[in-house]
Amino acid sequence: MKNPIFPIFFQMLVWCASAPALAQGDPLGHSDRAASLYRVVVTLDGTGNPTLPVAVLSRQERVEVVSATGLRVIGTGDGQVEFRLPAERPMEVSASDPKPGVYQHFVVLARAPSDDLDTLRRLRGLWKERGLPVKALTTGTTYSLAGRMLDTRKTLLCLDVSFPAADAAQARAAELGQQYGEDLSVYAIVAEPPSAQLVARARDGSEVQAADVLWFEAVKAASGRGAPLKVIGTRHGTRTELELPGRIYVVPGQGGGLEIVNEAEIERILEGVVAAEIFANAPADALRAQAVATRTDMLAKVGTRHVTDPYAICSEVHCQAYGGMQKVSPRIAQAVADTRGLVMVDPDGRLVDAYYHAVSGGHTENNENAWPGRPQPSLRGQPDQVAGGVDHLAHGPTDAAVAALLADKDASWAGASGLNQGALRWKVDKTATELAPTLQAVGVTQALRAIRVVHRGVSGRATSVELTLADGKKVIIAGELRIRRAFGGLRSSLFLVQPGPAGPGGVPARWTFTGAGFGHGVGMCQTGAVGRAKAGQDFKTILGHYYTAAHVEQLY
Ligand SMILES: [Zn+2]
Repeated sequence: MKNPIFPIFFQMLVWCASAPALAQGDPLGHSDRAASLYRVVVTLDGTGNPTLPVAVLSRQERVEVVSATGLRVIGTGDGQVEFRLPAERPMEVSASDPKPGVYQHFVVLARAPSDDLDTLRRLRGLWKERGLPVKALTTGTTYSLAGRMLDTRKTLLCLDVSFPAADAAQARAAELGQQYGEDLSVYAIVAEPPSAQLVARARDGSEVQAADVLWFEAVKAASGRGAPLKVIGTRHGTRTELELPGRIYVVPGQGGGLEIVNEAEIERILEGVVAAEIFANAPADALRAQAVATRTDMLAKVGTRHVTDPYAICSEVHCQAYGGMQKVSPRIAQAVADTRGLVMVDPDGRLVDAYYHAVSGGHTENNENAWPGRPQPSLRGQPDQVAGGVDHLAHGPTDAAVAALLADKDASWAGASGLNQGALRWKVDKTATELAPTLQAVGVTQALRAIRVVHRGVSGRATSVELTLADGKKVIIAGELRIRRAFGGLRSSLFLVQPGPAGPGGVPARWTFTGAGFGHGVGMCQTGAVGRAKAGQDFKTILGHYYTAAHVEQLY
């Protein structure tokens, strides 16, 4: 690769004003094309529909690709067919001569939207005070569409040291994280992408070879549409068969092995994501609300994730769960079609960070209480009770108010849905022995004498907890997710905790957590959306409640 550095600000999101003409000949060299997969993350297909590359299988040794209407192997990615196979005849793709990529890794101390100068200044000052040199990197991009400027840029404040090895950067992140009681992540940029010689082999022995990337698509039937591609590989150790819209490309991945990337219309990918995110039998307006939230979330993530991978987003929970078209029902496809191109936009013109969660517990949460960042106008916590339900937190989320909430029967819209009832209220017992490993993961190596919630967000979720250790020292655990993890993976941090009887040295052998809700509580309560839709609210009303200042706009 001759053009080695793809820093984050090179992660261009490409929206063309019109469909790009197919290249005549091949003006780009093949290796340039493979390299371009690290930059171009959204394009328009031949009919003007935005498309997105999503990783569907990672670290594959070999995969099989087949289509019910026949298979085209495209060596250049621009339509020049190298090979055709009749219907139902598979090709097996494997790689030889792999060369790992070269990366630079940074410890991320803090992050915020690039135009949130107050937060960035404050965080930079905080880390400088701690005596650490800070370097700012930018991720994400700006683009305009339908006359609207969209901005997904975030500034990452990083430790001003680059690590060639991910392990070393992670070790440093863990060390600083323990020292300052925060979860620190690692950010990487590509110096040189991984490469390999790829070969696709049919059962009759014919084969196609290419360096670094191979594209596959279904032969179009007389109707003009190809059958879905079927890809057979392994996921989490088990054989997996995926049915995928659009086309795929196969590239060497950064973790070794092959990455299988599905490049398809955003609307088709959305069908698969919505199918993975919500009950298929949810009422139509809950499905529509989910489709708009998911589309917004997906577009807001583009350019800010996977900057060292040859795709825009992954199909794991890290980005958005996506398992192809298998679980897409006609009702889900209809909900996506009904809301085609609709997204939520903040008053400042920015795409809403459309977070959602399973069950609010009775009140949704402000974004700045769940993770660092400025308060977002669309992510203000709201009471989520049906008419006549008591908002126990109306005068503030004190322990007494939370106790009243927990003692009262759930009267939220999630409760009214009839779904997910086990997450409305819950109770978990943990022995000190059970808690030891998860406490150790946040740097606490002693048994606990006391647990006290220091601060709660508007939903009642604990955002800061003080632990009194066996030797009397006190430790603060901050952050909703960190708190849930520290106590063995609680459904939410909306809880009260009671010690069991004190054992030797005043250390209780057991703790009881009584809580409500499932997830961080920010944005839409998915189960509540179902309850609201069942009661006749339309998707714009539902979204308007959960995304407080957002309005729905047609992006394409
Ligand atoms: Zn991801």
